[in-house]
Amino acid sequence: MTGGTLIVGASQAGLQLADSLRRLGDTEPITLVGEENHPPYQRPPLSKEFLRGETDAESLAFRAPSYYADAGIALISGERVTGVSLSASGRPGNGVATTASGRSLRFDRLALTVGAGPRRLTVPGADLEGVCYLRDRDDASDLRARLGSASRVVVVGGGFIGLEAAAVARALGKDVTVVEAAERLIARAVAPVVSGFYLHAHRRRGTRILLSTGVTGFDGMGGQVSAVRLTDGSTLPADLVLVGIGVVPRTELADQLGLECDGGIVVDACARTSHPHVAAAGDCTVQPHPLTGLGRVRLESVQNAVAQATAAAATLLGRSEPTRTVPWFWSFQGDLKLQIAGLSTGYDAYVLRGDPADERFSVLYYREGELLAVDAVNSPADYMAVRRALGQGATVPPDRAGDQETPLKALVVARSDAVTAP
Ligand SMILES: Cc1cc2nc3c(=O)[nH]c(=O)nc-3n(C[C@H](O)[C@H](O)[C@H](O)COP(=O)(O)OP(=O)(O)OC[C@H]3O[C@@H](n4cnc5c(N)ncnc54)[C@H](O)[C@@H]3O)c2cc1C
Repeated sequence: MTGGTLIVGASQAGLQLADSLRRLGDTEPITLVGEENHPPYQRPPLSKEFLRGETDAESLAFRAPSYYADAGIALISGERVTGVSLSASGRPGNGVATTASGRSLRFDRLALTVGAGPRRLTVPGADLEGVCYLRDRDDASDLRARLGSASRVVVVGGGFIGLEAAAVARALGKDVTVVEAAERLIARAVAPVVSGFYLHAHRRRGTRILLSTGVTGFDGMGGQVSAVRLTDGSTLPADLVLVGIGVVPRTELADQLGLECDGGIVVDACARTSHPHVAAAGDCTVQPHPLTGLGRVRLESVQNAVAQATAAAATLLGRSEPTRTVPWFWSFQGDLKLQIAGLSTGYDAYVLRGDPADERFSVLYYREGELLAVDAVNSPADYMAVRRALGQGATVPPDRAGDQETPLKALVVARSDAVTAP
């Protein structure tokens, strides 16, 4: 390869970036290199439809195989980039990357879309057979196969992925226990009322949930996990364990290049790293808060990967424009469909709309009376109303938000600090 753009990491953000470059009229070579042995595919179904056995691995692919040649994107799968150097002048051009198999890839412009890897448990027995993680397609295929024969499943971590997988295992008739170290489920993302709802909803469906409980190790028989040791001194029998305790952004190449990292690769609102000619996008980045511009956040979502990658493409072509988009996210745990719009970080009040006992309600988050976000459970109309309102710089007065007799969209009123919708 000579010149053009090198995109390291061939997934949601990397593919979007390549596609956006072409849409913006870039005619230079584009190389998209990924360490996985599969062309770019969707991750969200891995803990949902794919794990339930409702879809096959091939249908997860974002694009038909012919897309890459048609778009002039050189896709290299199964190659890990181990080293990158930029031109000595600090200007675009003359960069070179090397891969684990010894290939050299020359480039003029560089983008890092390297994502994140699962946070590993380092307790005794963590390397036993049957202690699994769920980040990529191979993990999901392995977990799906093991689920077929498992009877007692322990999920370590009560976050989105752990709870989605627990819901699948339970629906398949397995004996399921979720072990969560914090006092409540999904504690980093939602208000206590939403955590409490999920606790009871999963328990009602027959999943055991232990809160404020950590894991001290795993016991095995013949190399296969047989039990999980807990911080209260008890043990849980298990023939399959899924560890879902968060992710660690992949900053190794950024560190090598001396780019600023702070719990992720630091980028600005244009997806530019601390090196003006290197862009980064997706789960590997930390960025200014997309709505307020204040403080930095790391977002792990499809929406964010797409929005940042789109901005990164413009930046690499020298046409950067800061975009302010409304973050959105979903988590489908069996029949419980959670949709989130906005970012609730820093909220000082919330309004509950509907009754969690009906398994259909929304929580609207506010700071100093301004609408920040919504968590909508089986309430797509509330989700859409808030997503639109935030995109239009509008709000819902907190004293009206709980009025269930009126559709939320009819309660939306204007406010001055407008943002643009994605
Ligand atoms: C099981 C699961 C369920 C999810 N469900 C949802 C959901 O319901 N809703 C939602 O919004 N989001 C969901 N997400 C999150 C969403 O999938 C991620 O936010 C999104 O994939 C981020 O895309 P990315 O391209 O930034 O990173 P990734 O998808 O992590 O891709 C990064 C890629 O870079 C590769 N790579 C890393 N380093 C190198 C290197 N040195 N050389 C070559 N390649 C490299 C990696 O192997 C990987 O393929 C889910 C994620 C998982 C794992």
